[in-house]
Amino acid sequence: MNIALGCDHGGFPIKAAVLDALRGRGAAVEDLGCFDTHSVDYPDYARDVCARIVDGRAARGVLICTTGTGMSIAANRFSGIRAAVCDTEERARRGRTHNDLNVLVLSGGCITPEQAAAITRAWLETPYEGLEPGNERHARRLQQIEVAGRLSEFATLGPADPEIHAAIADHVAQEDSTINLIASENYVSRAVREAQGSVLTNKYAEGYPGKRWYGGCNPVDTVERLAIERACRLFGAEHANVQPHCGSSANMAVYFAMLQPGDTILAMSLDQGGHLTHGSPVNFSGRLFNIEAYRVSPETEQLDYDALEAQAVACKPRLIVAGASAYSRTLDFPRFRAIADRVGALLMVDMAHIAGLVAGGAHPSPVPFADFVTSTTHKTLRGPRSGIVLCRQQYAQALDKTVFPGLQGGPLEHTTAAKAVCFREAMSPAFADYARQVVANARTLAACLQEDGFKIVSGGTDNHLMLVNVAASGLTGKEASAALDQAGIIANKNTIPFDTKSPFVTSGIRLGTPSVTTRGMGEHEMRRIGGWIVEILRHVGDTDLQQRIRRDVTELTRAFPVP
Ligand code: PLP
Repeated sequence: MNIALGCDHGGFPIKAAVLDALRGRGAAVEDLGCFDTHSVDYPDYARDVCARIVDGRAARGVLICTTGTGMSIAANRFSGIRAAVCDTEERARRGRTHNDLNVLVLSGGCITPEQAAAITRAWLETPYEGLEPGNERHARRLQQIEVAGRLSEFATLGPADPEIHAAIADHVAQEDSTINLIASENYVSRAVREAQGSVLTNKYAEGYPGKRWYGGCNPVDTVERLAIERACRLFGAEHANVQPHCGSSANMAVYFAMLQPGDTILAMSLDQGGHLTHGSPVNFSGRLFNIEAYRVSPETEQLDYDALEAQAVACKPRLIVAGASAYSRTLDFPRFRAIADRVGALLMVDMAHIAGLVAGGAHPSPVPFADFVTSTTHKTLRGPRSGIVLCRQQYAQALDKTVFPGLQGGPLEHTTAAKAVCFREAMSPAFADYARQVVANARTLAACLQEDGFKIVSGGTDNHLMLVNVAASGLTGKEASAALDQAGIIANKNTIPFDTKSPFVTSGIRLGTPSVTTRGMGEHEMRRIGGWIVEILRHVGDTDLQQRIRRDVTELTRAFPVP
């Protein structure tokens, strides 16, 4: 086992005994100093030891100062470090079995070298018990520490700006205690949050890696190269631009790279599931381009590819957009390609909603079929709030020139770093399991609602979301989502195809499973949640019922903490 060892002048007198104890039991020790009794600052040594543990160079660490107090405080500032002073062998053993103590802190001024050696051996040789059956309480409590750590992530903001601090703390509490069924949201990992909240926000980096307008860009060049390389590898793309600030600007970049104002775009109508940037008259897309909107079949509520083809032949678009914000069925990308080829159009797939499913293999990939693939990174993909564009190499230069200097100035390299972290996470086998579970959970939730008589648009779901036609049950989407909200179940009202109500009222609600699946919930929990939704929607005015379910929701969320 690799152990990092650090001490200050007060710890130095017992260090040799600790080193011997560690090496005598086969540990590979990196001795980071100090090396005599001249006065030094203990935080420097705590930092060096803990940095090695958090980046994986060392499995555990030992820190020694006069009392152990300063070293403990300094070490515990690092997330993922569990450090405590141990002055007896029993404390060291308990620290391991119960608390998975990964940093042993010793007090050079209070114990003898012989005691230090014995304590060190006890700590080194005792395993953590929290993963054994019957000892789950230890793992649960350690997890609680990590969850509470969400508050520590912005602790210095408290005194600096109490109002903003309070609002963020409220959001943490809301995330912790409610069930989030908003299909376009997710909970990012702490690693993504750390990259997003990093000092890279300080850097200007107009241009691209190796060709910047500013000095001092080497670290951000590394970040952006990694993000590009990972995005290409994750999705099998020839080229990636990772600078768009969001999904809307990713779409704008493709339109501006390939189209002239007035060109025709064939895209899904907003009121049928498309996105604002697919040609809504209030959006730049609808104001600058000639939009032909395609719709779903009134009978099946699914895309009718024959009708789409006939429409494309009639309107001869320069660009066809596939992709939606509220469509629950698998998109047939080969068919979209064939239609685009028949009419000589470019094909852009906006996979914002399904990007995580594509990455995890739970939805077919658009990349082999599309000229451009745009995406947000914050929905099923579980990254920071941002955007990307993937394209064929032949369009790379036009795309890059359009993003910068065409549309944007300096890229947000802290967000780029967070995107790179998210792409790495999305390449893991665990993410493929996650993507599969998101779909399985959505299917189960839809089936529960259908069994109880609720109408799901298009008859079901193949992906992470569903539209529930609540008008068929005598409700509006507005009433339904407000009632669910009272019980701590967060969803959004949504128009359904051929809706007769305004977008502020709507006939539907949209439900999605990316967030609950990130919390580790499975089909059993979906059946419970489905049951609650049915009860609430059957009795929308029953506030007692809402309060009872609110208590059940709180209990369920406690068992599935937000990462
Ligand atoms: N494209 C689709 C399909 C979306 O659903 C969304 C957002 O909901 C976007 C693009 C735009 O993303 P952003 O809100 O990051 O601009």
